[in-house]
Amino acid sequence: MANQLVWFRNDLRTCDHAPLSEALVAAHQQNSTITAAFIWSPEQLQQQGAGSPKLAAYQQALDALNDDLAALGVELQIITAPSWQQGVTDLIELCVRLDVDNIYCHYEPGWDERLRDGQFHDQAPEQMHLHRANDLYSAPPRQLLTLQGNFYKVFTPYKRNLLAQIIDTLVAPRPAPDNGLPAQAAKPLALGERFVWDNPMQLPVLEQQAHERLEDFMDQMNDYSSLRDIPARAGTSLLSTSLALGTLSSRQVLWTIAQRQALTSSNAFLSEILWREFYKYLLAWRPELCLGKAFNPKWDQFPWQTDPSLLQRWQAGQTGVPLVDAAARQLNQTGWMHNRLRMVSAMYLVKILQVDWRHGEAWFARQLADFDFAANNGGWQWVASTGVDATPYFRIFNPHEQSRRFDPDGDFIRKYVPELAPLANKAIHQPTPELALALGYPLPVVDYKTSRADTLVKFKKLGQDYDQHH
Ligand SMILES: Cc1cc2nc3c(=O)[nH]c(=O)nc-3n(C[C@H](O)[C@H](O)[C@H](O)COP(=O)(O)OP(=O)(O)OC[C@H]3O[C@@H](n4cnc5c(N)ncnc54)[C@H](O)[C@@H]3O)c2cc1C
Repeated sequence: MANQLVWFRNDLRTCDHAPLSEALVAAHQQNSTITAAFIWSPEQLQQQGAGSPKLAAYQQALDALNDDLAALGVELQIITAPSWQQGVTDLIELCVRLDVDNIYCHYEPGWDERLRDGQFHDQAPEQMHLHRANDLYSAPPRQLLTLQGNFYKVFTPYKRNLLAQIIDTLVAPRPAPDNGLPAQAAKPLALGERFVWDNPMQLPVLEQQAHERLEDFMDQMNDYSSLRDIPARAGTSLLSTSLALGTLSSRQVLWTIAQRQALTSSNAFLSEILWREFYKYLLAWRPELCLGKAFNPKWDQFPWQTDPSLLQRWQAGQTGVPLVDAAARQLNQTGWMHNRLRMVSAMYLVKILQVDWRHGEAWFARQLADFDFAANNGGWQWVASTGVDATPYFRIFNPHEQSRRFDPDGDFIRKYVPELAPLANKAIHQPTPELALALGYPLPVVDYKTSRADTLVKFKKLGQDYDQHH
């Protein structure tokens, strides 16, 4: 009698989990056993860019999943491996040992993820089937095309088409399965070294926490468009880590929004959820984005600065630009950064310090608990003007003006750059050299105006050269 196995990936939940539900039904119908497995390879995740906050969040989510699965009578087996390649070999061995023929999982579009599944297909015995549910997308990427039959490269028409499909097809998320198997006692997971992230902002990570946060946030959703850009206010959902780990699915978010009759194109929060999906959609069409490639190669020859101290000062929150430094310190201290600040900080690195966006992308990946390749790469390429539907090269945020506009009373700066706390609201966004020196705060690492002008000249020349040759 062939048995069933659920292969967990970035979907560490029991509710709205089609592979788990299907495997349980099959086990019940065929009177066979069901096991769950996860390939734990910190090395592989680190090579993809993840750092301690994301790895620690994974471990916390896996521990909770272990308990939840045990309550359903399903054992979670951890396959520890130095790479996914080795992990797949070990997983196949486990399936042979357990007499498993049906493996249920979710499809993932990234480059390594495709190689991993391809390897499974190549290596697994003929009778072993990988059933992949496609719940990552509200509509299959191959079905969501422009009138000309191409994939979308502009968000707004993509969103219009996707939203119409969501409204037509959205179904209620599955509750946690109730299969009648006797609950087991959860065995502690052998996850090796424990990564450290103390989550000072108490971001929801686990499935239960994500559900609670989502419900609470619904009461705030109407204020989202007015508060979402103010980093000193708790105006956003903070659900990104749960969504990145899959302890919450986007269907659960969409369904909850739909229950509030708020599935409308003017809902700013919904738009952001769809931006998330857009970047994943692009990976389905352009998996080579995972290999460090710019979507638009036009700006690839930009003469980036190579002085390592520029990157180091930006990473450490020591650029002498208060809002940029507050953002960097928020990231380093909490494992999360506010979206407005991700844009301001990334823009400053790329277009004022002229550091290659890939260095910033790698740093965010390492520091963020919510690191998600598609969203991170999409965000960086948007800022760098290399991406799909990206900001034009000449749009450069002035970080001092952004600071006056979005942190008018300097509350956020005072929290993360306490040496500037004594300054008056007017002075805190751009302290004079005298004040900065007196407070032990660094002088700006470059002159903003000169650097901005230089960047524009370089981009313009590069664009002209490129257009001449293409
Ligand atoms: C340079 C840069 C790097 C980024 N890196 C990541 C990353 O690694 N992981 C990540 O999840 N988000 C990333 N974002 C997007 C965004 O900043 C975060 O999703 C958001 O700040 C998370 O906070 P929240 O959950 O309170 O978001 P909310 O404002 O409450 O939004 C709800 C959800 O929508 C999604 N979302 C929101 N904004 C975006 C966006 N611009 N692009 C894609 N999805 C979005 C997230 O899943 C988020 O949890 C990045 C943005 C930029 C500009």
